[in-house]
Amino acid sequence: MTRIAIVGVAGRMGRTLVNAVMQDDGVTLAGGIVEPGSSLIGTDIGELAGVGRLGVSAVDSPEAIANEFDVLIDFTAPGVTLANLAFCAEHGKRMVIGTTGLSDEELVELEGYGEKLAFVFAPNMSVGVNLTLKLLETAARALGDEGYDIEVIEAHHRHKVDAPSGTALKMGEVVAESLGRTLKEHGVFERVGQCGPRSDKEIGFATVRAGDIVGEHTVMFATEGERIEITHKASSRMTFAKGAVRAARWVAGQNRGRYSMQDVLGLG
Ligand code: NAD
Repeated sequence: MTRIAIVGVAGRMGRTLVNAVMQDDGVTLAGGIVEPGSSLIGTDIGELAGVGRLGVSAVDSPEAIANEFDVLIDFTAPGVTLANLAFCAEHGKRMVIGTTGLSDEELVELEGYGEKLAFVFAPNMSVGVNLTLKLLETAARALGDEGYDIEVIEAHHRHKVDAPSGTALKMGEVVAESLGRTLKEHGVFERVGQCGPRSDKEIGFATVRAGDIVGEHTVMFATEGERIEITHKASSRMTFAKGAVRAARWVAGQNRGRYSMQDVLGLG
């Protein structure tokens, strides 16, 4: 049985992860970590997540439960995730990371940990999204350089702090790579005022933030006379949480390295 601890257990994803771990027979819930100084320290994490008392109290650091877990699942914020990578590398733990919004420098730092521990990092843990990435690769290869304009449109709830979403960027990257382009050169993240007509090779991004939308992504390939849209809609955070628990079970048996959900699902 893989013993799991959840960091950010009081967050939207943290609470959903408690539910997902409880529904999976191959793992046990070993602990939950909340922000240092939080009034929730000591609270039963089952009660926090609305699944009833589990007899596991929230603590304020991975150190406090260092001997009790094998895999740390982290859906928090970039700085917190990097600190947890350092802790897990030092203590022989594995990680599943869903945090998004890392800067280029933070991504380089994260990549470096691939030599020190086994971890899965994915901006979207849903099985459907990861299959969608495969479909996008196929579509881009078949259509992209034949005069199709490519646009990525995403929508999320009003509390999301980063934009475009990590998933939208990943989708853009997959399409760009399939066409020998890069987002650095061809990504267009803002259009305002007299910005002129689009260029042939640009990959445009549009962001919607509203209400309680869990996560919707569309990649559009449009040309004169037709338009193809590949869309994924998440209707519950449970899809991300179940993917993360599946990744935790998988990474528990892996050697050092930085893995993706494509690796977990055998789509790599
Ligand atoms: P949230 O704000 O609801 O939760 C984050 C939690 O982390 C908060 O409860 C906060 O108190 C806690 N936290 C902050 N610092 C901490 C620390 N030092 N120790 C312990 N806990 C700490 O946000 P959310 O909607 O749950 O999203 C969290 C992250 O996960 C975001 O980056 C989001 O984009 C990402 N996300 C990824 C996926 C995916 O599939 N990869 C899916 C949904 C969300």
